[in-house]
Amino acid sequence: MTNRLLMPNDAVKQADVRRPGGSGRRYTGSIVTPADSHDERALREFGATVAGLGMWSGRNGRRCGDCGFASFFATCSRCGGDCPKET
Ligand SMILES: [Zn+2]
Repeated sequence: MTNRLLMPNDAVKQADVRRPGGSGRRYTGSIVTPADSHDERALREFGATVAGLGMWSGRNGRRCGDCGFASFFATCSRCGGDCPKET
């Protein structure tokens, strides 16, 4: 069972999920539907949340230490600074 996932913000509208076999699947848009539980788990690591449960709370996300930009990558997509995980 998979759920539609809401990507955390407008910064990234694309997520590449790499699968163990070496293939990958690309998800685009602010609401994505994972093909299976593997992809759902991977998309959640991008910071995606189940659609319908409200907006991104900021939990499990990252925030740039330099410019404060909410990111889900370790490197800020705006300024390239470090984005430690928020707790
Ligand atoms: Zn930054």
